Order: sequence, then C-alpha cells, then structure tokens
Amino acid sequence: MKISEIHIYSHVMPVKNGPYKIASSIVHALESTLVKIVADNGLFGWGETCPVGPTYQPTHPKGARAALEEMAQGLIGADPLLPVVLRRKMDSLLNGHSYAKAAIDIAAYDLMGKHFNMRVADLLGGAVTDRVPSYYASGIGEPDEIAEVAAEKAAEGYPRLQIKIGGGRPVEVDIAVVRKVWERVGNRMRLAVDGNRSLTTRDTLRLSRECLDIPFILEQPCNTIEEIKSIRGQLHHGVYLDENGVDLTTVLRAIGDGVCDGFGMKVTRIGGLHAMATFRDICEARSMPHTCDDAWGGDIIAAACTHIGATVRPQLCEGVWIAQPYIESHFDPEYGVVVEGGHIKLPTGPGLGVLPNEILFGAPLASYS
Ligand SMILES: [Mg+2]
Repeated sequence: MKISEIHIYSHVMPVKNGPYKIASSIVHALESTLVKIVADNGLFGWGETCPVGPTYQPTHPKGARAALEEMAQGLIGADPLLPVVLRRKMDSLLNGHSYAKAAIDIAAYDLMGKHFNMRVADLLGGAVTDRVPSYYASGIGEPDEIAEVAAEKAAEGYPRLQIKIGGGRPVEVDIAVVRKVWERVGNRMRLAVDGNRSLTTRDTLRLSRECLDIPFILEQPCNTIEEIKSIRGQLHHGVYLDENGVDLTTVLRAIGDGVCDGFGMKVTRIGGLHAMATFRDICEARSMPHTCDDAWGGDIIAAACTHIGATVRPQLCEGVWIAQPYIESHFDPEYGVVVEGGHIKLPTGPGLGVLPNEILFGAPLASYS
C-alpha cells in the first residue's frame, strides 16, 4: 500500500466557559491541525496535532503546519502500514518537530486499523479495558473555587484531579488551594499538583513541606530537570515529569537518573502512537505510572489518546486527559469521544473509530499527491 494523497487542514475551537488559565498560558481558543492521508486503494486515515498556544511547549500551530508542509511531498509513495519505516522516512525529511510527525503517525494507524479491520488499541498491543479512566484538570483559581470544582468532579466519578498552581502568584495561595481541595474531597480522588514549570525550587520545597500530610504527586513543578534533580532528595512527594519529557532519550535519562516517579505524557510530544507505545513499554519495565494525554485538540487526538490509554497496564495508568469537557463541539457528530462519569469509552469502530465530518474543516490549506 502507498500513500497517494495528503491533505492538511486547520480548525479553530473556542474554549467553553473560557479562557482556560494555566501557569504558562491563557487559552481562549485552540487552533488544531488535521491531516488526512489517502492510500492508493482509496482507504484514508485522520491525524491531528493541537499545541495549546505557543508558550506551553516549544510548539505552535503554525510550526505544525510548516513542518507538515515540509514533509508531505516526500511522504507520497510511503507505505502507511509500516509505522517504523514511516517514522524514519519523516526523520529523513525533517529533523525534530515530533508533534507534527505525530499527526502523520496517527493518521497511518487510523488507516492501518481500517485496512486490517482492527481497533488502533489492538494494533498497539491490545486493549485491556473498554473504559479508560480520565482525570480533570482544574484551571488556576482561588481555594474555594477549586475545592468546589474538586467536589463536583469527585461526584461525577473522576478518579483523579489535577490541580493547576503557580504562574507567579504567592506560593501561600497554592498551598491554600491544595489544603482546601484535600479537606473537601480527601481520598475520594487521587491528586496531582501541576506547576507547569513555573515554581522556583524554593517554593516547591515549601509546598511539599507544608503539605506533608496530603498524598499528592507533584507534576512538573520547576522549569528544568536540573532544578527538579537539585531538590528531589528533599521533597516529601512523588514527582512526575510532563513538559520536560520531550523525547524517549530524555525519558530514559530521567528514569536512569531517578529524577522522577512517573510521567504526564502527551502523544504528540513524544512523536505519535508508535513512540507512545515504546514509552509505555519502557515505563512498564520500570513500573512507572503515566498518563496518556495530549495538549488539546478534537475527536481525532482524543480517540488516539484513548486507544493507547486502553493498552496501559491498569495499575500504571494515571488516566487519559482529553479536551472534550472544555470544547463545545465534535468533529464526529455520532461517535465523538466523551468523558462520562470520569471515564472514556474506547471507540469500537476500526482504526480510531471516529469519522470527522470534514465539511467542518473547509478547504485544505495544502494538498499533495
Ligand atoms: Mg502537566
């Protein structure tokens, strides 16, 4: 089989009840990039990549499109059923830009699933569940407000809450938020406290010391691995890397150096579903819990995260975060991916199991054949 056409689309999705605020960004709307690859037998697959603005990671929507345009012509004729060969082909056309390559990788898996009449989760090693746990990420807010969100989400059935903190405000407020949430929901939900790179080592130490009695994990508190490493021995809480986990090399280094106890991982950051399956296996070999997320995006990326999430050993699966609760509409009006009762049903159709209504995306920005 050969790729005979590649089409690149852009689609803007406003944030429901927005903006959404985290330490590194204020998000009003998401600009997603979609890729449709068509094979010479007429089968097609969809991929998506959606950086959450230009400051969360060194990625941005215009960068995704430029990288895809750089590679697309060279990918015509490549075999979409051979993900490793396809990844090497992409690497031969462009250095880096894993988040753009991920869209092609996801589209190839969708196409592969349709070709073999298999779910992507089964192509990735096999689903161990048909209902994956999700988690809710609060924005940055005041103690009472976030405690209210926590109570509401616990009642909805979310098994885990990620509390966003930091962004330059006094750490006393962050400590008050964490304490208030704990008073309100206690052990009804597992807690992650996410600084999105914004805390100093001093404030991270204080947060951990003053919340000794609260069992949360600290997610990406500081900007660099070096900062986290420097205070690691003094922390009273487990540490997960998120933004710093930029590639498999870094993941191996972080595990080897004992810098972290788990990861928040994003499918597009690591380079797509194939790389994510490798990451999953590395984590399983060292009993490292992790999430299967993406930054943001619509039904395509949500389905991709759910499929890989369904293959993770359940004890190590920290949840699948998708943007659906924060976005008004679906690409697939019938089989759109949703969080219900804090969990996500694995799509059942072949491939990703979602079929976008492509009229929503308008004319392609660029087409190659
Ligand atoms: Mg995070």
